[in-house]
Amino acid sequence: MTMNERMTQDPEPRGTVAAGAVAAWDGVEDSALRTPRHTPPAAIEILDRAVAGDRIEAPEALLLMRETALIDLGIAADLVRRRIHPDSVVTYIVDRNINYTNVCVVRCSFCAFYRDPGHPEGYLHSKESLFAKIEETLSLGGTGVLMQGGHHPDLSIDWYEDLLRSIRERFPSLHIHAFSPPEIDHVAKVSRLSIEEVLRRLQSAGLNSIPGGGGEILSDEVRRRISPLKTLSAGWLEVMETAHRIGLPTTATMMFGHVESYADRVTHMDRIRSLQDRSLARGARGFTAFISWTYKAENTALGGREVSSADYLRTQALSRIFLDNIPNIQSSWVTQGKEIGQVALKFGANDMGSTMIEENVVRAAGAYGCTTRTEIERLIRDAGYVPHQRDTLYNLVT
Ligand code: SF4
Repeated sequence: MTMNERMTQDPEPRGTVAAGAVAAWDGVEDSALRTPRHTPPAAIEILDRAVAGDRIEAPEALLLMRETALIDLGIAADLVRRRIHPDSVVTYIVDRNINYTNVCVVRCSFCAFYRDPGHPEGYLHSKESLFAKIEETLSLGGTGVLMQGGHHPDLSIDWYEDLLRSIRERFPSLHIHAFSPPEIDHVAKVSRLSIEEVLRRLQSAGLNSIPGGGGEILSDEVRRRISPLKTLSAGWLEVMETAHRIGLPTTATMMFGHVESYADRVTHMDRIRSLQDRSLARGARGFTAFISWTYKAENTALGGREVSSADYLRTQALSRIFLDNIPNIQSSWVTQGKEIGQVALKFGANDMGSTMIEENVVRAAGAYGCTTRTEIERLIRDAGYVPHQRDTLYNLVT
């Protein structure tokens, strides 16, 4: 089906996404660039090729970001999503983000969560506290947990191995999705080990997969402006490529809407796609999903404005069109709110993300709270899809 055919035919039920949700983004002024109202023929031709399954290149993606009307980009992303996921199922996961420590030496200017070492509000969860959080997650039907934390100056590989072994011993079948690339890089430096040694040791201790946190924007110019002490692009990519090579699947993320340009967002996606090409060529599972979310400014040193939901939907739609080798795109209701989270399902997303029994990092900067299984299923159904719980690796939970 071409773009023109799609505009006159909609074989999929539209559902009943709240009218307020559409009103919430329709007409919102784009915070970065003016949103075009009409799509030029050159962009329609690119969209048609993408919908048909052809790969589009980075300059073409940038043209789409700059010149395509939002609705056309959304229609194309929806068609690509339907090609990759022809059924009407939208998945979600029951889990929580356990932040084992908020003590961090990196001081990213966009982060409202961290506390300096020695700060009275700094914490490091005990094993007992982590076990209780895991037990609660399992009792609510969860199959795994996501664990991430600050760059604690005193924690070396021994602490992480001991933690993983203790969890594995107590919860043998739990999926442990933990430690973003900058944390892995930090542990390697503190422990004077290579990235591969750290990953292999954590894998042996029970780690199952790695979250894509800390990707922010994979452009060093941007990274130096918002988090000058954090792992640069090459370091983030090295951790991910090594993880894929030794059999640890990962997700990929992008935190946008701060100081970067549209070109930076496309560069970020291009680097992710190139790495995924290499990993898939080696027979690895690689990135299971791409998750983009918008910068939340409250309580941060960086401050400034937040981008519009229209900008969020535009970027998410482009990710579905451009990342032709990544199977799943997650909607970010946590930063955009539940109604825009629903709308995002019409803009290329096939996954509603987590129920977020617990989330601390973006909540500290003004993001939305948690939900329940009942509510997330209702949100998906109201948007016209069939909800289905999944595990961390996107297997359906029966
Ligand atoms: S985003 Fe992560 S690395 Fe940066 S300051 Fe916050 S906790 Fe530390």
